[in-house]
Amino acid sequence: MFSEEKLSILVNSAKFDVSCSSSGSNRKNSGGIGNAHYSGICHSFTQDGRCISLLKILLSNDCVYDCAYCVNRRSNGIKRATATPDEICSLVIGFYKRNYIEGLFLSSAIVKSPNWTMEQLYLTVKKLRVEYKFNGYIHVKGIPSADKTLIEETGKYADRMSFNIELPSERSLKLLAPQKNKTAIIEPMKMLSADKYFITPERRRSDFLPAGQTTQMIIGASPESDSHILKLSEYMYSNYKMKRVYYSSYIPTNFENTLLPVTAAPKIREHRLYQADWLLRFYGFTADEITEDNGNLNLEYDPKCAWALKHLELFPVEINSAPYEMLVRVPGIGIRCASRIREARKFCKLDFTDLIRMRVVLKRAKHFITCGGRFMGIESEKKVKNLLICAESVDSAEQLSMFGETEAAVSALFGEL
Ligand code: SF4
Repeated sequence: MFSEEKLSILVNSAKFDVSCSSSGSNRKNSGGIGNAHYSGICHSFTQDGRCISLLKILLSNDCVYDCAYCVNRRSNGIKRATATPDEICSLVIGFYKRNYIEGLFLSSAIVKSPNWTMEQLYLTVKKLRVEYKFNGYIHVKGIPSADKTLIEETGKYADRMSFNIELPSERSLKLLAPQKNKTAIIEPMKMLSADKYFITPERRRSDFLPAGQTTQMIIGASPESDSHILKLSEYMYSNYKMKRVYYSSYIPTNFENTLLPVTAAPKIREHRLYQADWLLRFYGFTADEITEDNGNLNLEYDPKCAWALKHLELFPVEINSAPYEMLVRVPGIGIRCASRIREARKFCKLDFTDLIRMRVVLKRAKHFITCGGRFMGIESEKKVKNLLICAESVDSAEQLSMFGETEAAVSALFGEL
């Protein structure tokens, strides 16, 4: 059985992994219903867009490695705990039966050795599926340097697996996580993307990691630029059929190590990287196009706006005739709107009222388009830049509002830019 202390150690140690995001709330139950605890239950999105609750826990935080940036590193004087596969299984089933969770996100520090740890993870997910007949979602962390057969066997029982790349360059790995190496992280990623696990180039077999693989990079612990980070993501998306790359802002947990920054990486950088990642995956942009000359993303504007403002010579584009590839590059026109425009203009000439109906975010788009030859934006480059900065701060404030300018909020939730 789990003691409350052990459970608390293992869920708290798991909260730095953002491969599935935590609820981020610590509201206590004050006599009503429910309890949004600060860790333990997190949320993730399924293939069809449903939001599901996962128990996010480490099998152990008793690490034999000493990665400088990590709270669980061997040299850190924190309380340690290790659970058995049976303990994790009964906890998951207990929570599932009480309707607290719909799935499990299981990770671990390296206990004893990579093989020992991977075997414990394997035994846990196998037990859950075979003995406990658990059909809920399971995301399991893969352990670099573990035996390939163990990794492959684990993949038969999990929905998703992730090997974290952690730092964006081999040099930084050597410096901050000397027991890890690039090959040990990349090789299993390569293995999980082999053709034999796919029915079509896009569709995975249902009996082996149907939800694919993901990875995570820590941002700001090492000096790599956004351009370097995004090129690495581009490479992993195209070569390892990665479902998602997660970016996690560095949080200082080790003030003795002078190789590490003393302050946390700004959240806005992480936010811009997620926006840029979206542009790489769905909008046809490349990392080189969206980063600035200094190698980083513009922090003032989202990366699509920043790109458009740098290429004003390509605008305005005519909504009724511009190619789809150009429509998706207009700030305020997401992929859903661009598709609606492409279909609708086959039947009639579109005007600005049609665009509002199609939920184009005109306060951004109007400076970059004409509709039936009509331009409704502002021609002064300086004024447009200021207006776009204002629009961005209003959108950020309204992102989760269910009222007001809902299109901007909905677009933000879907990552449309
Ligand atoms: S292997 Fe490194 S990053 Fe992972 S838990 Fe251990 S110290 Fe932390």
